[in-house]
Amino acid sequence: MWIDLAYSLSQGRDRTMTRRAARIVELLEARGADDSVREVRFEQLTDVIPEGNLIEVFDGRGKRVLPRYPKAPDFPWPALTRLPASGQFGNVDYNGRVFRLYRHPHPPYVILVAGQLEDNRNMMARFTAGLAWATPAMLVLCAVAGYFLNRRALQPVDQITAMLRSISIGNLSQRLPVANTRDELRRLAETCNEMLGRLEDAVERINRFTADASHELRSPVALIRTVAEYALRNPKVDAESKEAFEEILAESVETSQLLEDMLTLARADAGYGNPVFEAVDLSQLVEDAAARQRPLADAKQQTVTVRTSGPAWISGDRSSLRRLVWILLDNAVKYTPAQGSIVLGLMATPSEAVLTVHDSGIGIPEELLPRIFDRFVRADPSRGEVNGTGLGLAIAKWIAGAHHAKLSVQSREREGSVFRVEFALLRNTE
Ligand code: ADP
Repeated sequence: MWIDLAYSLSQGRDRTMTRRAARIVELLEARGADDSVREVRFEQLTDVIPEGNLIEVFDGRGKRVLPRYPKAPDFPWPALTRLPASGQFGNVDYNGRVFRLYRHPHPPYVILVAGQLEDNRNMMARFTAGLAWATPAMLVLCAVAGYFLNRRALQPVDQITAMLRSISIGNLSQRLPVANTRDELRRLAETCNEMLGRLEDAVERINRFTADASHELRSPVALIRTVAEYALRNPKVDAESKEAFEEILAESVETSQLLEDMLTLARADAGYGNPVFEAVDLSQLVEDAAARQRPLADAKQQTVTVRTSGPAWISGDRSSLRRLVWILLDNAVKYTPAQGSIVLGLMATPSEAVLTVHDSGIGIPEELLPRIFDRFVRADPSRGEVNGTGLGLAIAKWIAGAHHAKLSVQSREREGSVFRVEFALLRNTE
């Protein structure tokens, strides 16, 4: 804008001066006009031009053809006749002001038109001053408007980010909402959805593979176990072979357990084997689990105490819940030394049934507690622990999750552990 205005003003100035020179040429060429008529017309012409504009006409010898221009008697005209012929325009200082000068040769005359540049300069100065405050003000305005516009425009990005953050391996089937626009955000949401689709496919394939592999391996492992058991029943088997067969049997029992657990989790991941919900009395399950576990506890001379506050009905899958109680109780027996004590509790509050498995066992190292429900997490084997797959608590976590129950643990090494599952009580159980 500044450059355009400066250019337009200077062009306008030069054009006006060229036009004035053309009027003088007309005046000089007017037929039948003698000098006195010309003088009158020249005066008329100079009377109407605004202040700060000067005109003179010289003949070839440097003598004024028209009367001295009265408004600037001492304007340095003669010096101006020396302007280079090619450069018809130039600037000159007069009385501390800058004048634009136009020299128009019109043989035998030289017409000189001068115009003050002050007005143009004042206008440019005012414009520059205006720009000096308007530009920062506009910048501030644009920045504020830009900030709010940006926030509005980027709101969908925030939503996409929040949604993507909430997606994990467990809910890969979720999709981002796709806006009904034709912009980059729509493409971003669509691309993310395509990526989620591909991830979901890949995870599903891995789950299926794990499930299939565990399933396929069950039969050969079962066969190995049967053969080992059969061989052990043979009275003619020698001591060395017996030891080997016992080892094979123990390993195959453990491997079948591992395969069962892997299959359970792979099916859970793949969404198969979703629990079938019915009204279940947890107190009954707790009593049953304690009764089944008692022989193992007795073998270690452990005391198993059951404390229930009466029936506690919840909505759940009976066999999964049985497995959950079994995993926790089995761990309590496994990880509690001989003569330790285990308390199986069930407390019903007005809204919840709280199952607790308390043992006086070896406890869980503090650094392991945050990961204890992850798959294949087992404490340092040097603690002399019994065999296990490291998948029991992961299955327990999945069962609790499927029942919208909260499974937590508190434990101190060498003091014992308390596993706690909080179920929502079933209403209207009569
Ligand atoms: P597993 O018992 O087959 O190793 P789990 O997932 O059931 O697998 O348990 C994971 C690990 O958590 C165990 O290896 C053990 O170190 C620890 N743990 C579980 N329950 C207890 C408990 N009651 N007391 C001490 N450690 C426990």
